[in-house]
Amino acid sequence: MTELTQRPEEVPPLAPGRSCDGCTACCKLLSIPALKKPAQTWCEHCNIGKGCRTYDTRPTDCRTFFCGWVLDQALGPAWDPRHSCMILKFEANRIVIHVDKDRRDAWRKEPYLAQIRSWAAQAIAARGEVLVWEGLDGIRVLPNGEQRIGRSM
Ligand code: SF4
Ligand code: SF4
Repeated sequence: MTELTQRPEEVPPLAPGRSCDGCTACCKLLSIPALKKPAQTWCEHCNIGKGCRTYDTRPTDCRTFFCGWVLDQALGPAWDPRHSCMILKFEANRIVIHVDKDRRDAWRKEPYLAQIRSWAAQAIAARGEVLVWEGLDGIRVLPNGEQRIGRSM
């Protein structure tokens, strides 16, 4: 979504130095109900790696979504979705990680797995959880293991 900076009024405070320039990962990995676009398929409006061809009329889901990496300075460059092949979403007591179906084991490599297990330990202590969508397959991450939770439609 390279045009992001053209609409500053819509943009929440991004982490210093972060932007969506050159990244369109969420246009593949996430579902967009308004477009009936399923997760893990490229949106028909995406100019891959460049931006949105229908930027001015894109749905609210697209206007309001910003991934964890673009918002959180604490995440290092390894978490840039262009390289990590995954998208982080931080919710109230939950972290959801969407992993590209074509690199579905990316989260199991380091430095990712150790950090994700650490988040899982913290989340469980706070009655929360860490979920990984490995492509369309859901996994609840535990500090030392995992539970399969089914497949997304
Ligand atoms: S995945 Fe994150 S950095 Fe990439 S386009 Fe979406 S919001 Fe921006
Ligand atoms: S409408 Fe644009 S911003 Fe939304 S998923 Fe499609 S390409 Fe991405």
